[in-house]
Amino acid sequence: MVISENQIRKGETSARVQKTLQIAIDGPAGAGKSTVAKRVADALGYLYIDTGAMYRAATWLIIQKNIDLSDHSAIARAVAESKIELRPGDAEEKIHVFVNGVEVTKQIRSQNITKLVSPLAAIGAIREHLVNQQRQLAMTGGVVLDGRDIGTVVLPDANVKIFLTASPSVRAQRRLIELKSLGESADYETLLKDIVERDQRDTNREIAPLRMADDAVLILSDNMSVDDVVAHIIKLCA
Ligand code: C5P
Repeated sequence: MVISENQIRKGETSARVQKTLQIAIDGPAGAGKSTVAKRVADALGYLYIDTGAMYRAATWLIIQKNIDLSDHSAIARAVAESKIELRPGDAEEKIHVFVNGVEVTKQIRSQNITKLVSPLAAIGAIREHLVNQQRQLAMTGGVVLDGRDIGTVVLPDANVKIFLTASPSVRAQRRLIELKSLGESADYETLLKDIVERDQRDTNREIAPLRMADDAVLILSDNMSVDDVVAHIIKLCA
């Protein structure tokens, strides 16, 4: 059965999908995971958990506190003592992010945070803390998590695992269009370089590297629209 865009609305598809599934969507930078994950979650009446936003929020905190980036124990302590919260957003702002009660939704998308997040996400103590939180949030099911290690580490028993990717050039091009539509300046070559660098760091780190889980479904979205990808994932959940 093909699920069309019209049918992908909260309540209609959720009737046919169990309420308690854990859906894991992993993939490299700029593959459209957050857009797709949010749309799938909305269609099923599920909670969307953007784990990348949690690593970004931890990075914001460390910069805010002026902690030396090489001082891993101070970094771990600061993250453990902080409260990172995700609150549901809407189509425009998919999720609202708070650190110790301060909203940082927009700040965590800055270029500076985007550059620093990968090296910080490679620190074991940060991962341990955030992975625990992610597992707790996902415990009751009815959740869609997107990230790099959801299907491999965070939720190895997730009911549906997706590895969503696209070629680097397509990802950079999409990001360029997105930034321009937000009125931000960007150039294709820089975006492509940043995407490739972040993928390399995330793939080659020792702890929880970006990797497709053995039992994940690969979706290469170069020639697919967001609607196509969402419909494909929802079919896999039914
Ligand atoms: O998904 P997003 O691009 O916002 O993620 C930002 C960074 O956070 C990634 O480049 C990666 O270094 C880190 N991350 C991670 N594990 C996750 C989610 C994100 O290491 N589950």
